[in-house]
Amino acid sequence: MTTSYRTAGAPYPQDAPVSQALFDRAQAIVPGGVNSPVRAFRAVGGTPRFMARGEGPWLFDADGRRYADLVCSWGPLIHGHAHPEIVAAVQAAAARGTSFGTPTEGEVALAEEIVRRTPVEQVRLVNSGTEATMTAIRLARGFTGKSKIVKFAGCYHGHVDALLAAAGSGVATLGLPDSPGVTGAAASETIVAPYNDVAAVEAIFAAQDDIAAIITEAAPGNMGVVAPRDGFNQRLAEIAHANGALLIIDEVMTGFRVSAGGWAGLEPVDADLYTYGKVMGGGLPAAAFGGRAEIMSRLAPAGPVYQAGTLSGNPLACAAGLTSLRLADQAVYQRLDDVSATIGKLASEALTAAGVAHRLAYAGNMFSIFFTDADVHDYDSAKTQDAAAFKAFFHEMLSRGVYLPPSAFESWFVSTALTDEALETIGAALPEAARAAAAAGGSN
Ligand code: PLP
Repeated sequence: MTTSYRTAGAPYPQDAPVSQALFDRAQAIVPGGVNSPVRAFRAVGGTPRFMARGEGPWLFDADGRRYADLVCSWGPLIHGHAHPEIVAAVQAAAARGTSFGTPTEGEVALAEEIVRRTPVEQVRLVNSGTEATMTAIRLARGFTGKSKIVKFAGCYHGHVDALLAAAGSGVATLGLPDSPGVTGAAASETIVAPYNDVAAVEAIFAAQDDIAAIITEAAPGNMGVVAPRDGFNQRLAEIAHANGALLIIDEVMTGFRVSAGGWAGLEPVDADLYTYGKVMGGGLPAAAFGGRAEIMSRLAPAGPVYQAGTLSGNPLACAAGLTSLRLADQAVYQRLDDVSATIGKLASEALTAAGVAHRLAYAGNMFSIFFTDADVHDYDSAKTQDAAAFKAFFHEMLSRGVYLPPSAFESWFVSTALTDEALETIGAALPEAARAAAAAGGSN
């Protein structure tokens, strides 16, 4: 059933008949009607919009409505939709053949670009962030000969069995504690610590000696945006190394978005392995993990730790990713920072004017708004949010042509394509959305 969120004065009708018809068709044959859970709008209710096309800062849905996009495909699209150079690169690659199952020059060029920008010495290309973290963990275990993994509550690293415990956004959005289907054996290898809590990590290492790695988001964006406290990531490296374990920094979300070198470009840390995804694929499926040559050389065929992929280093994905990275110069990062600062400020001013308790949280140019008056530094504090206020805010923005992440536990993502017109659309919607949040707050 569709819930109606019709609001007084909203410029668009809130019902979306074509999207609804597509959703009905999808629900008959695809579980929940979507191919990734958070797309289903379960946290906010209503009809998920089926998108027909994107152009620069805009998304156009199947009902013909236009939205300024602050999701950017969950991060990858720093240059906006259908950037002409990326489209041309993909078209040219497709015309040469879509996949060969052999090495290609494009893979080498993309790997070189990643190594040039980041602390990693060697890199392996895969298809998704999930694959990257899954293999980084296997490699850490193979390298150290140990088995347990420490992760943080609220950090999401993809749907890897061992990493689904307390996994933030998607899982939080659906209100699932963890996931059935993850065996007790897999779960028992994972130790979950509160985020930003060095003492808790020290206590875990004091009690255990079989820990292969700590894995952490470079700066979490999957419980909303929660920046690491000063020195937190470096302290994790020190604790890991003092105990014969590795530190894996997951830059799938931050990588090549918050700076040319990702979070490591803002805060260098002695980590051992890094994972990447999203931006490095330019909107096509590509991801990677990398680190010191000493560790990476344990991977097959150089070493015994097995990993493989039929479509890894796909020529179209490499062409899109390489073009996207080559376009991402300092001016691009400056623009992303400026635009995210502008939108955050406008949002916060609108919420303050409407009397809505909130916290605006940044990690580089990733940001989110917590509908709470609590200090947010970990998953428990992130969960103090007023879900009803967010729902009302989200739907008012949607009705006024702004596409926000359909969950309060997600980062907002900007692109350089946000024109003055798109920023005006966002700026005009925010005061109305803030008033809707104020009216809904507390009715959770
Ligand atoms: N790691 C982080 C930090 C992520 O944000 C995500 C996805 O959002 C992943 C890993 C998983 O990436 P993918 O969805 O490409 O499997």
